[in-house]
Amino acid sequence: MSEFVLDPPSQASVAVAGSDVRFAVRRIFCVGRNYAAHAREMGKDPDREAPFFFTKPADAVLDSSATIPYPPLTQNLHYEAELVVAMGAGGVNISQEQALDHVWGYACGVDLTRRDLQTQAKNAGRPWDWGKAFDRSAPCAPLHSVEQVGHLDGAGIGLKLNGETKQSAHLSDMIWSVPEIISILSRSVALCPGDLVFTGTPAGVGPMVAGDSCTVEIDGLTPLQFSIAL
Ligand code: MN
Repeated sequence: MSEFVLDPPSQASVAVAGSDVRFAVRRIFCVGRNYAAHAREMGKDPDREAPFFFTKPADAVLDSSATIPYPPLTQNLHYEAELVVAMGAGGVNISQEQALDHVWGYACGVDLTRRDLQTQAKNAGRPWDWGKAFDRSAPCAPLHSVEQVGHLDGAGIGLKLNGETKQSAHLSDMIWSVPEIISILSRSVALCPGDLVFTGTPAGVGPMVAGDSCTVEIDGLTPLQFSIAL
């Protein structure tokens, strides 16, 4: 067994609904602009241009019920409600037909975004990382296994901020479906068990400020709840 000069980092993980056993997270992939109405609100024309991806560090995940300090460097922190897909099996060049066989389960998540830093990066032709890949930027509710909930076809997805509905859509509104996302992603990288995919957000994104409470619901899944510290 190898020894390390420093203790290895603790394993990033998310909770599993109804279980004390957790799901070890390997990487976090996120899909950009995957709902037409959200693409329009971001000033882009939705079309079937190939999907694009960005990433967050695995340890950006955070369990439900957390209170998150308002992150540094931003004056415009945004929520983005998203379906999270947890990969149970890996592979390269996975076909659309076989893609769902690689899914372990699903959860409600939020792709927290420092919108001002993301916009500055876009305008400067720089990477999105500082807008997207910061500490605690991936709150994630307990995962449900496919055995438990199936594949959620057409489920509703919604986000409430302080009890007021801000996002409301259906998973069927995604431009790129879960099988398509998995298949396309697996042509670029070798997917592995433990990878999470945040599948994009519907229209209605907006700012969170200190003291705000956010709830994400997807039909059939345990809701995600978190707050921004005062
Ligand atoms: Mn997103």
